[in-house]
Amino acid sequence: MAATDRQFGAVTVLLGDKNGKYPHGNSLWVCGREATAVVDPSLSVVARADELGGRADLVIQSHVHEDHVAGVHLFANAKVYAHREDAPGLHHLDGLMDIYGYGSLDAAMRRFVLEQFHYVARPDAHGFNDGEVFTLGGTQIHAIHTPGHTRGHCVLLIEPEGVLFLGDIDLTGFGPYYGDAWSNLADFERSLQRVREIEARVWVSFHHVGIIDDRTTFLTKLDRFAARIAEREAALLEFLSEPRSIADMVRHRFLYRPHVDLPFIDAVERRTIEQHLDRLLASRQVERCESDHYRRRA
Ligand SMILES: [Zn+2]
Repeated sequence: MAATDRQFGAVTVLLGDKNGKYPHGNSLWVCGREATAVVDPSLSVVARADELGGRADLVIQSHVHEDHVAGVHLFANAKVYAHREDAPGLHHLDGLMDIYGYGSLDAAMRRFVLEQFHYVARPDAHGFNDGEVFTLGGTQIHAIHTPGHTRGHCVLLIEPEGVLFLGDIDLTGFGPYYGDAWSNLADFERSLQRVREIEARVWVSFHHVGIIDDRTTFLTKLDRFAARIAEREAALLEFLSEPRSIADMVRHRFLYRPHVDLPFIDAVERRTIEQHLDRLLASRQVERCESDHYRRRA
């Protein structure tokens, strides 16, 4: 146990460095009578390799993204699980690249994932379905499919502790991330509703927010998080007061602040903007004008 660990019955929350701010994250260590599971082993688990490495029987993923699988290589003898729609990202690096879909950035992204997140493929990883239950002896992990961030994203409810691991429905000020090829805005909105309806006593987000132990606080943070979607759409609509190309919109940045420099930002901005633009076109709030430009309808 580290000073920053928090325990709820069989569940230990391994709070990550910098409060779990990316590239770090908050992982779970779930110790049943018969088996031990680690959930989303982060770079902060890698930093504790001597203490934790090899000591879990199962690795269970909320989804497959670089920061959530950084510690999978520490558990070479464990069974590894992700929802079947994300499992290809564990089976092979090509599968992970499909999840991102960053096109021309592919080579840079492969290096990034291998060098900074210790990615090691697990062709033996198992895919599970919505409603899967992992029984560890006296405690169970229930997988609830909440797609949108990725196709296979799940939240994990640990009972009887009533701990709900939210993965990257992370309640941060950044807001929902649906900027990959396998992300979907409409699915994310449905998943936010589904998460709201789950009974729990403790909520754990992978990034930043960490542990929440009362429902009122959880709902306040969930509402604020969800509201970012409408704020982005309003900001895009405002920007389209003048005709703009998609390249203009990507340069403007609706997600990341100007100083942030990561290899995938333009691709993520583009995918995010295109989903909002589709909705604004469908609702006839925006129209296409000359030479691939778009503008707000009068
Ligand atoms: Zn993620």
